[in-house]
Amino acid sequence: MKVFKFGGASVKDAAGVMNLSRILGLFPNESILVVVSAMGKTTNKLELVIQSWFTQQLPECIEHIEELRFYHQELIRGLEITRQQQFELIKSTDGFFDQLRELVKKPSNTNYNLQYDQIVAYGELVSTHIISGYLNATGASNRWLDAREFVVTNDTYRDARIQWQQTQANISQLAADGKLKDGINLVQGFIGRDALSGNTTTLGREGSDFTASIFAYCLGAADVTIWKDVPGVLNADPKLFPFAEKIDELSYEEAVEMTYYGASVIHPKTIKPLQNKGIRLYVRSFLQPEQPGTVIRQMDEIRKFPACIIVKKNQMIISFASRDFSFVAEESLSLIFGELYKLGIKAHLSQNSAISFRICVDDDPFKINPFLEAIQPHLDVQTEGGLTLWTLRHQSDKLEKGLISGKTVLLEQRVKHTVQYVLR
Ligand code: ASP
Ligand code: MG
Repeated sequence: MKVFKFGGASVKDAAGVMNLSRILGLFPNESILVVVSAMGKTTNKLELVIQSWFTQQLPECIEHIEELRFYHQELIRGLEITRQQQFELIKSTDGFFDQLRELVKKPSNTNYNLQYDQIVAYGELVSTHIISGYLNATGASNRWLDAREFVVTNDTYRDARIQWQQTQANISQLAADGKLKDGINLVQGFIGRDALSGNTTTLGREGSDFTASIFAYCLGAADVTIWKDVPGVLNADPKLFPFAEKIDELSYEEAVEMTYYGASVIHPKTIKPLQNKGIRLYVRSFLQPEQPGTVIRQMDEIRKFPACIIVKKNQMIISFASRDFSFVAEESLSLIFGELYKLGIKAHLSQNSAISFRICVDDDPFKINPFLEAIQPHLDVQTEGGLTLWTLRHQSDKLEKGLISGKTVLLEQRVKHTVQYVLR
């Protein structure tokens, strides 16, 4: 079994969906589990639905839902299938948007993160429904799977943690029942189910890569391919750096490091399960599927990897100080990290001095505000937002000087092979 993952950009329009089908056609004799994200910018739009729902702006909320309905209908109208097939696919897809409208008629309750997951999951449910319908209509028979029947998590909504034992048992059962079809199986990325409540959960933005890796691990897949709009893993974002170039081969370790620091090409949690089982990960272009892309694999030989630049925008520095000039030590740190963990906030960088402690995190008010509320009774807290975190790996001095010139360095940290700057 191979696992393929197609992200939102690859299925943003009818041409993309038809291209996905062409790519599957290049592997006629393979069993493939296809993991798909929401189409185009659907998840962002669903976030607007949630926002307007929570701010009681019902007309806006409905408008966003209807725009999403229209976008998906237009996409279906662009698919090369019969009128009748289009009509039926539109009708069945409409059902999801009707459900969404029903959902937002109820008042939003206070648990934002829980409600967020119930709504945002529709992006993946709709995209897999449409793709499955299109493939069936064109003779590529396939099996549609509901990821929530397999991927079991805890209830950290928006950043749910996998319950591996149950997930493994579910996926093994699926394989043992012979229910995984020879040929094409289709499943949503990003979504799962809370073991206790049965509510829908999500694995964090861009989490579909991780879903691919979860299924690959539990199935003992031959390999995983992430189909992207870039030729492979690049050493910098080509939109920001014209000199960006493709890396042909990476070790699991290097890939883990790069994604840990925020290289957005692969979701950071993706690599570990694959590494554990030695499953190769290919990152290839859905625009040039004949090209080899990048392979991430076990490498025993020492390699010199190219200099690599990772940029994270919209960052915030939070500084903590004790009220009485005592040290910010173990007790306060355990409070801080306990709350970060509870809220699923990742400290991209942390730095200690005698009486203060600073972290750099994504500036996400829905997570930061509850965090600050929990900490402020105990410590003095200051924040500065609107910052950028730069990470350089295997850097040269020249690159580094060029990067920081003319900017204010608020935090700097060096570890082996890596230097990080938070710049204003
Ligand atoms: N659709 C989700 C997102 O945009 C998950 C993913 O794309 O991997 O974050
Ligand atoms: Mg996406």
